[in-house]
Amino acid sequence: MQFRDLCAQYRALKPEIDAGIQEVINSSAFILGKPVTELENKLAKYVGRKHCVTCANGTDALQLALMIWGIGPGDAVFTSDFTYFASAGTTSILGGTPVLVDIDLSTFNMDPDALERQIERVLAEGKLKPKAVVPVDLFGQPADYDRILPIATKYGLNVLEDGAQGFGGSMHGKMACSFGDISTTSFFPAKPLGCYGDGGAIFTDDDEVDARLRSMRAQGKSPVDKYDNREIGMNSRLDTIQAAILLPKFKAFVEHEVDDVNRVADRYTERLKNKYVTPTVLPGFVSSWAQYTILMENREKRDAMQAKLKEQGIPSMVYYPRGLHQQEAYKWMGLEDSMYPNTIEATNRVLSLPMHPYLKDEDIDLICNILLED
Ligand SMILES: *Cc1c(COP(=O)(O)O)cnc(C)c1O
Repeated sequence: MQFRDLCAQYRALKPEIDAGIQEVINSSAFILGKPVTELENKLAKYVGRKHCVTCANGTDALQLALMIWGIGPGDAVFTSDFTYFASAGTTSILGGTPVLVDIDLSTFNMDPDALERQIERVLAEGKLKPKAVVPVDLFGQPADYDRILPIATKYGLNVLEDGAQGFGGSMHGKMACSFGDISTTSFFPAKPLGCYGDGGAIFTDDDEVDARLRSMRAQGKSPVDKYDNREIGMNSRLDTIQAAILLPKFKAFVEHEVDDVNRVADRYTERLKNKYVTPTVLPGFVSSWAQYTILMENREKRDAMQAKLKEQGIPSMVYYPRGLHQQEAYKWMGLEDSMYPNTIEATNRVLSLPMHPYLKDEDIDLICNILLED
């Protein structure tokens, strides 16, 4: 059994994907060919935003957004402590300081109260200037924007939505990647919408930001002259071949895959809810189920269950084994575990189960039977 079965998806979409790749090769428009523009238009429309600018990966997408706001030394950028490294690393690479915020244990997303406490702490200390907040749509569910956006407004912070895992989710009918001043996603193969390599996208409603992003992903070039460089940018574009792969995948994603993963999640939850803490999807929220993550009683039981599943050929993952405050790269910050009780609890107890739109009922039942034994 696969944790995320990309081969099953390929078998279902093979004719369109193969034809798309072949067309790009025939056209030899490998960089910013027509499929890239077509994809950008479709994605912008789907999430309900004016602009989509694709780029090389989800990490570059975050970095480009932070560069637009000129994040650098002395700036505080608030993000979740329980996320993939890039949510914070992109601030560090620009010389800014990520300020890590504890999570809500029921959704694994940033706790808005903890966010406000961290902003107040930074203001009281007076060393850093609060500039932006990077809420993460972890495991497919949008962060609590109803509460985070007013806090950002109150303190004058830009909002950068890290929707790398959230694409396809929604809140009160509004799609993920529409909540930030700038929002980003990733097309890493295992994400809800993945390509066959690295890829990413940035969303905004602001015409000027859109124009600057298009320049910044190509060395800060002017719109008309590639060798007229106006500011310091990156080389970060989505390959045309990846766009051609994403077009049929996006069609399947919209037509049935988001529904399919929600059916898988419902079946898991129905079977497991009496014995485990199953994922909480808040009222009015829809998850795109980047991960289906249960909470077990403690680390010993979690590790034993993971070993038992493995013995029977079932892969499972611990997302994430440590909080960002525990990473070697952030040791210098001297952050105590006691500041992040919910992150610590999550790292000890989470277990993510196989999840993808092509997971069969028999396989879900097999996994659940093992989890429900004894
Ligand atoms: C995957 C991921 C990223 C980075 O995306 P890449 O395409 O791998 O660079 C950023 N943030 C989160 C939350 C992610 O899960």
